[in-house]
Amino acid sequence: MPEQIPAGELTPMMQQYMETKKQYADCILFYRLGDFYEMFFEDAKTVSSELELTLTGKACGLEERAPMCGVPYHAVEGYLTKLVNKGYKVAICEQVEDPKLAKGLVKREVIRIVTPGTNLNLQSLEESKNNFLMSIAYTPTKIGISVADVTTGDYYLTEVEDLKKLNDELMKYEPSEIICNQNFLVSGFDVEGLRGKYHISVNALEPHLFDDDGCRRLLLRHFKVNTLIGLGIEDFPTGMTAAGALLQYLYDTQKTDLAHFTHLYPYLTNKYMLLDSSTRRNLELTETMREKQKRGSLLGVLDKTKTAMGGRLLRSMLEQPLIDKEEMEKRLDAVEELGKDSVSRDEIREYLNPVYDLERLLSKVTYKTANPRDFIAFRNSLEMLPAIKSVLKSFSCRELREVEERIDGLQDIFQLIQASIEEDPPVTVREGGIIRDGFDETVDMLRSAKRDGKQWLAQLEETDRERTGIKNLKIKYNKVFGYYFEVTNSYQNLVPEDYIRKQTLANAERYTTPKLKELEDTILNAEDKLTTLEYDLFCKIRDSIACELDRIQTTAKAVAKLDVYAALSLVSERNHYVRPKLNEKGVIDIKDGRHPVVEQMIEGDMFISNDTFLDNNKHCISIITGPNMAGKSTYMRQTALIVLMAQVGCFVPAKSANIGIVDRIFTRVGASDDLASGQSTFMVEMNEVANILRNATSDSLLILDEIGRGTSTFDGLSIAWAVIEHISSRKLLGAKTLFATHYHELTELEGKMSNVNNYCIAVKERGDDIVFLRKIIKGGADRSYGIQVARLAGVPDMVIDRAKEIVEQLTDNDIIEKIQNITVDVKDTKVKRQPKPDEIELSQMSLFDTVKDEDVLKELMEVEVNTLAPIDALNVLYRLQNKLKNRWKCEETRRPDAAKGKV
Ligand code: ATP
Repeated sequence: MPEQIPAGELTPMMQQYMETKKQYADCILFYRLGDFYEMFFEDAKTVSSELELTLTGKACGLEERAPMCGVPYHAVEGYLTKLVNKGYKVAICEQVEDPKLAKGLVKREVIRIVTPGTNLNLQSLEESKNNFLMSIAYTPTKIGISVADVTTGDYYLTEVEDLKKLNDELMKYEPSEIICNQNFLVSGFDVEGLRGKYHISVNALEPHLFDDDGCRRLLLRHFKVNTLIGLGIEDFPTGMTAAGALLQYLYDTQKTDLAHFTHLYPYLTNKYMLLDSSTRRNLELTETMREKQKRGSLLGVLDKTKTAMGGRLLRSMLEQPLIDKEEMEKRLDAVEELGKDSVSRDEIREYLNPVYDLERLLSKVTYKTANPRDFIAFRNSLEMLPAIKSVLKSFSCRELREVEERIDGLQDIFQLIQASIEEDPPVTVREGGIIRDGFDETVDMLRSAKRDGKQWLAQLEETDRERTGIKNLKIKYNKVFGYYFEVTNSYQNLVPEDYIRKQTLANAERYTTPKLKELEDTILNAEDKLTTLEYDLFCKIRDSIACELDRIQTTAKAVAKLDVYAALSLVSERNHYVRPKLNEKGVIDIKDGRHPVVEQMIEGDMFISNDTFLDNNKHCISIITGPNMAGKSTYMRQTALIVLMAQVGCFVPAKSANIGIVDRIFTRVGASDDLASGQSTFMVEMNEVANILRNATSDSLLILDEIGRGTSTFDGLSIAWAVIEHISSRKLLGAKTLFATHYHELTELEGKMSNVNNYCIAVKERGDDIVFLRKIIKGGADRSYGIQVARLAGVPDMVIDRAKEIVEQLTDNDIIEKIQNITVDVKDTKVKRQPKPDEIELSQMSLFDTVKDEDVLKELMEVEVNTLAPIDALNVLYRLQNKLKNRWKCEETRRPDAAKGKV
């Protein structure tokens, strides 16, 4: 271990290394040596195995060489990203003085610590996605949350009451790194889950970083204000602590002034529609459930933005739809007005084409990593701003007016870059070729010295020959004396006063003059001086841009908004969306609604539109039945997506839509295992149901698909029944709900509860086959057509025929009758009767009478183990075990002693 090495025996360089390493013990130290970053001792071993680098050694003063490995400095970003993605923190130790000028050992300092949440390697980050660092200040009564993106300067804070809501925020931001106080680790939150399942690096920081007073002082100092009121965060004391700790952490790791953090935005989570993690996933808002890809998600359809900033904004808008009607109308006005003048909108979109990621450029300016080419891209973006502003002037809605006002033409910065930076500059900043001719006199002079030096000398020689009358006067050069005049002895009497003797030869004397000295300096050092001067000027230009961070950031945000509105307007036009009306009466009335994603996947105009009507009175719950594959899930999701799109401020895929604003959308869709967290299909399902029933309000929209499918038929049916009763009760919940089910028995509820209605998706039977009509109609389906769908899927005829035989036997029993006799337990009307246990058991017996051990064994034999996915394997196992359990349970209930309660 390096720490045990006696420092005195080490070489001076190694002593310097060890000193630095001691201060950054929790980091891997990248130690700059010439053109490489080297690692030593344990760090070298770790990195060489993680990155598959060759492990070598270096003499370090001890008997044994120090283990060493290294990466070239120009390719460091890629290696850094790999290490950081594996969860390491890396401290970059740089030479901070010019090795040529250093006396003795070159001074080195850690200039930055790279962590997952502070990675600046833009190539490794998704352009249209933020890379967030989250800070959590946990107290038993309030949880402060702050998030920031160092690549854009985005910086937010909020507070939530419980861990559930914290989880919602976590899923919204998907941070790559979390810092927290020690209390959070013992709060009961599944921190290991964050690390293991979501690969988020979670670290508790020293308590002093979460000290309230310290945090307050730091924030006041950073934003140069006297009170928290000035920041608008006085109502968020715990959030303030989280934000302060985050800022301190960034100061400690980034070692810059973080000047691009110009604003801290507080927000209230209840200002937005709440979407829990499973709803986000189920609705496939930003990525598909299976492939985790943007294509196939709602964002994939809507994202026609031209800039990376617009892309990020649209993503965050989808992740937090609004609940304030006025705000939604403002956005809709903007989309509508741009749609009405599509010529101007398209013109704006053309102008947005070359617009660079201004936000990420600003972070490069702050970190002093922006290069000359970035500035040219920046200039090209700025060039577009006046044109954008001028087209925007013809729009009158409030939102577009605001956008126009917030876009600063930034022509001073445009002029500065235009005048100073070469048109096609290099990426490097220390090799010259950056500054444009005519911008700086000295640069011009040095350039011409490089180019015209010889001519200048010839001119001087000529003038002095005439001035002195020395006919053979010559300017010559050698390495030791540089440039000099040479005068042969015969002309010595003509040498003027200002000539200074440099050297005496046998037949001549060598002289210099102040003028010749000046020319010599200029010519000989032109190259060096030029590159240094160009670098200095570039830094000055960069610094003067840094002084305008605030203006640029405001402009960037406004451009991003404009980009989003223009994209939404274009998508609305292309996909024939309409402007939704919004109401606060809780009525959702959609005519000819379509699924925004599925309709894109289906060729031609084959998508069948459907109506939806829900309110908090008679049309509170729609029970949707219909065959497998009929389109139930599609229909329900389309309703949720249309509501969500309206609340994002986007037009919707429908002929008309009047949307009653909802506070939350909950979905429980399909079966999915959560094996990683040790939960079975059914457990996941029930967790989601529990969450919905606990947290939904009468203003929520619930999408429930197949509740109770993961367990035995009668447990499942009973749970589904009870859930509908609970939701329909105005006292308990009364939330608008779409409930799809294959339990046709549930259609019995329509007559029993005043606010439940049956719908089904129509199909046509053609002999043994069915044709999907995809149209939702009033009434309940009487069968699932599961066997027909199985045939369509290619299940062997033998199995299909056997299934038909079984289904006939099953439908012979008296289950339906029993269901019909169950009276509903509606809390409003105080009617109460639970199905008796023996009724359920009786039915179960008749149902599972047909299951034989041989059937189970046969099914087991037929499983294709080699091709079975782990999730499917678990499901098969679960099903088979259930069959056996149920069968044995039936047998036990039938044993004579069971009836006497001896089982
Ligand atoms: P299951 O009960 O088996 O889950 P489902 O009734 O929920 O089936 P969906 O998954 O919604 O059926 O739809 C199946 C397929 O039918 C979709 O993938 C889509 O391709 C097509 N589809 C659904 N709705 C429509 C529609 N309105 N118009 C055209 N095609 C549709």
